[in-house]
Amino acid sequence: MSTTTGGQEKREFQAETRQLLDLMIHSVYSNPDTFLRELISNASDALDKLRLAALTEELPGVDTSDLHIELIADGGESDSARRLTVTDNGIGMSREEVIDLIGTLAKSGTAAMREQLAAARAAAKDGELSEQASADLIGQFGIGFYSTFMVADTVTLVTRKAGEDEITLWRSSGEDTYDIATVPVAEAASLGFDGEVPMQGTAIALDLKPTGGDTDLPDYVAEHTLRRVVRTYSDFIAWPIRMAVPDN
Ligand code: ADP
Ligand code: MG
Repeated sequence: MSTTTGGQEKREFQAETRQLLDLMIHSVYSNPDTFLRELISNASDALDKLRLAALTEELPGVDTSDLHIELIADGGESDSARRLTVTDNGIGMSREEVIDLIGTLAKSGTAAMREQLAAARAAAKDGELSEQASADLIGQFGIGFYSTFMVADTVTLVTRKAGEDEITLWRSSGEDTYDIATVPVAEAASLGFDGEVPMQGTAIALDLKPTGGDTDLPDYVAEHTLRRVVRTYSDFIAWPIRMAVPDN
């Protein structure tokens, strides 16, 4: 399908993707922290790709002087209004790329994933996968982005591909559908975008699940949590990782 600027649609996940989301949210991971490692690793890949592209092609207006990742924590008004945003000023994605890469599961089938999962479980003590085994499965199947639904009720991705003058918003609650909209940069406000639109890059905002209750999740807008997770899983990332965390 060709790009339809201004195109606003609700689309269904492929059946496979839906099954995978279900696996993801309910069984694969033993460690919810992994979502941040996955987002940071995607951001790092996007920065690598931009640097490479800038060396080999003309990308008018693209500035590669301050490439970085940023974690922006917003404590909100209440436990259920907390939001964590992970941004990068890397290569970004076109609308088609968002649909192909994020909306579907292009690379590998859920069936294969299921088999591996069953095998790993059979080999594990009490059927509980170790952190390493979960991480290996996730890495192998390249489904990192979906791990965000372990910790978020709603995930909103806003992206601008380097050298392009439109932005795409993708939003889902990890159920059957996702919403996607693409507008020219000049109309960014119509997507609820406030502030200046960067020349390129991606922002992924997670409306976090409550910390209490049966989920028992860490508080991912707390500075000490973010520092701990980054130190544990993303220490080797070559790009600067900045943090904007409110004082309260
Ligand atoms: P993987 O990283 O193993 O390919 P993911 O689910 O983590 O699987 O990401 C799927 C794809 O979506 C990536 O390969 C990349 O093309 C695209 N993508 C994800 N996050 C970003 C980002 N921050 N910037 C640009 N592209 C991204
Ligand atoms: Mg990834």
